Amino acid sequence: MSSTNLIGLLPSELEDLAVALGASRYRGRQLATWMYRKGVFALDAMSDLPKEFRSVLAESRTVTLPDVERVTPSQDGSRKLVFRLEDDNRVSAVIMPDDDRITLCLSTQVGCGFACAFCLTGTMGLERNLTAGEIVGQLLTANALLAEEGRRVTHMVFMGMGEPLANYAALVKAVRIFIDPKLGVGYSPRRITVSTVGLVTGIEKLGREDLKVNLAISLHAASDEVRSQLMPVNTSWNLAALMDAARKYPLATRQRVFFEYVMLDGVNDDVEDARRLARLLRGVKAKVNLIPFNDWEGSRFQRPPLPRILAFQSVLLDAGITTTVRWSKGEDIGAACGQLREPIPA
Ligand code: SAH
Repeated sequence: MSSTNLIGLLPSELEDLAVALGASRYRGRQLATWMYRKGVFALDAMSDLPKEFRSVLAESRTVTLPDVERVTPSQDGSRKLVFRLEDDNRVSAVIMPDDDRITLCLSTQVGCGFACAFCLTGTMGLERNLTAGEIVGQLLTANALLAEEGRRVTHMVFMGMGEPLANYAALVKAVRIFIDPKLGVGYSPRRITVSTVGLVTGIEKLGREDLKVNLAISLHAASDEVRSQLMPVNTSWNLAALMDAARKYPLATRQRVFFEYVMLDGVNDDVEDARRLARLLRGVKAKVNLIPFNDWEGSRFQRPPLPRILAFQSVLLDAGITTTVRWSKGEDIGAACGQLREPIPA
């Protein structure tokens, strides 16, 4: 891919590059500031960089954001951005405004290889990993779009296409660029959530990075039997292993691990399932997000009726577990959880 792209390089790598091109490290810091802090992407507009350095840079490097192929607005105020990548693959990101927050849902892979039974992205299979530049580019593009309205992304969730922990190096690099307070984009890690299908070694590794980002685990069932039916990954890392990793993930005082639970009619939505879930989460600093299933053509699941969802929720609440029902945004534009799919070029 575009290894020549400056977007996606860590500030320290930009410093190294400046030196390699015969300039000082300071020039690398200026570059980082222009791209990540000021959102300026034209080398010619980087006015405090010496002309000579700019032209040496331009000979071998580019500052490239992924092309926005279309922006689809939803009734509910969210917007789906579909990016066309250099190899014509497509991924999407979703801008979701909510009161004073604007959350951006980011993709990390073209398609996904984990084949969860209820997820449309899972039907695509894995095409390829995104580069750090393509991940960072989604945020920078969203912020450029929002800047026209005097706003910016306030929170990020890695809940778009793909499995973030299966594209570990690019994920961590993108997060480092997002949270670097001086030369990166400057987000607090507490405003960033990495969601995983349950890759135990990835969770352990992420914990050791000490990035302090939030961890969300897609749980979806409280027994191995049901979970293995819904999520093939459960046959590699079962609930016991997963919960062990969740317990060990380093948390700040009021921080919790988020557990996502897609509600599937007649599959995992019984009060007995809720009781089992409450037992499973005993002693875990957890917050549960119940996601009523979002339908897609050809799926074999249905959303439970509202009373069933609420009955499930109240079992958890009674057990003292913070539990919210998360109505997905962008359902009308195919932008809701589990609805992201784009055609793969021939
Ligand atoms: N691969 C990561 C990131 C994707 S997050 C992960 O699995 O966590 C997207 C979330 O939406 C996951 O919790 C996923 O299980 C959930 N989801 C998938 N399909 C869905 C659907 N049809 N309706 C509601 N939620 C769905």
